[in-house]
Amino acid sequence: MQVDELKALDQSDQLKHFRNQFHIPTQDGKEVIYLCGNSLGLLPKRTETYLLDELKAWEKKGVKGHFTGGKPWVSYHELAKDSLAKLVGAGRHEVQAVGSLTTNLHLLLASFYQPSGKRLKIIIESGAFPSDFYAVHSHMKMKGVSPEEHLIELKASDGKDYLPNEEVIEKIREVGDELALVLMPGVQYYSGQFFDIERITAAAHLSGAFMGVDLAHTIGNLPLDLHNAKVDFAVWCTYKYLNSGPGGIGGMYVHEDHGSDPNFPKLSGWWGHNAKDRFEMANRINPIATIDGWQLSNANVLSSAAHLASLSIFEEAGIYNMRVKSIQMTSWLATELNKLENVEVLTPNSSDERGCQLSIFIKSRGKEIFDYLDTNGVVADWREPNVIRVAPVPLYNTFQELGAFVRILREAIEKVH
Ligand SMILES: *Cc1c(COP(=O)(O)O)cnc(C)c1O
Repeated sequence: MQVDELKALDQSDQLKHFRNQFHIPTQDGKEVIYLCGNSLGLLPKRTETYLLDELKAWEKKGVKGHFTGGKPWVSYHELAKDSLAKLVGAGRHEVQAVGSLTTNLHLLLASFYQPSGKRLKIIIESGAFPSDFYAVHSHMKMKGVSPEEHLIELKASDGKDYLPNEEVIEKIREVGDELALVLMPGVQYYSGQFFDIERITAAAHLSGAFMGVDLAHTIGNLPLDLHNAKVDFAVWCTYKYLNSGPGGIGGMYVHEDHGSDPNFPKLSGWWGHNAKDRFEMANRINPIATIDGWQLSNANVLSSAAHLASLSIFEEAGIYNMRVKSIQMTSWLATELNKLENVEVLTPNSSDERGCQLSIFIKSRGKEIFDYLDTNGVVADWREPNVIRVAPVPLYNTFQELGAFVRILREAIEKVH
């Protein structure tokens, strides 16, 4: 009965033909049930062609590849902008594919964390991703501000994983004119909670603070509207939902209010300088008055090629269509998981407060259950102390796979008890 229902859902799925655009890993000769797109997205088949094109250009043209051919490398960094702008809800002059998430975060903290007078404090969520915590902590140390005193790691008042937006906003109000910066995730990596970026940004601005967002688990997962929400800056990686390859090129966004100001403080490199006189090598400061002013180096073309391949699939599928299917998949899965013994879904129950991911807290013998899933062809991920994260991805997962996953999980729970 349920099998038929899931089969029908797959048959009527408008995005079903995209699965065939990806390489699905195998185990014992069978395609795995890959629910780990939140950690490393799968390889699009077309990526190979995009990469080979650039290798060929390099092979045939050498240095002339910078200025000739369909995609000259000198302006290669321009090519991801339109797609990225759509994904994060911004103008193309506000986004760029560049660097890596943590590097980008450092660059933008250098610009947006300018403690002065009594405005020294930063709010992040308790249990923030370690790299974000280290980045923020190190900037405070660099500026001579004590993180022990001025870094606020916000915990839910009931001690649970769900941090209500209201509590974030209340804290921002309370810290008021001592607050320099708020750094929040879009989707929290551990709990899968999606925060209300717009309301939190408005609160940060009311307190006179800047708002930064880490979109590692958000970009390519949910549609965003950064420009209208007036978010000051954002950073992301592209190897999770954006399927752009392990350690692939990252990205950043800066609102045009700051990007258009050439005097906005920033760390500079030659690629952030006006393209027209860049090669005069004259050492006159003339930064580009867009997000490109934050560029340091010439583009990583090979990594960018893989990124462009993947972005072209997002262009075809459309993030809003993906979101519709994602809500359907994750809602179905959450309902089924809630029927199981020994598990509790940590991720909020409302679709407005989550993306693809569900974090499943296993009350006991979680690691054994996880190992059983792994042996039986389910690729999920394990987070200490007792959490399995699964993320049905609308581009390549099917409803029938979710049915099979629930069946295997149920078996696992029965076996280890
Ligand atoms: C995945 C992830 C990172 C990874 O940072 P890299 O610099 O790409 O290694 C950082 N922050 C968050 C919240 C993440 O989920």
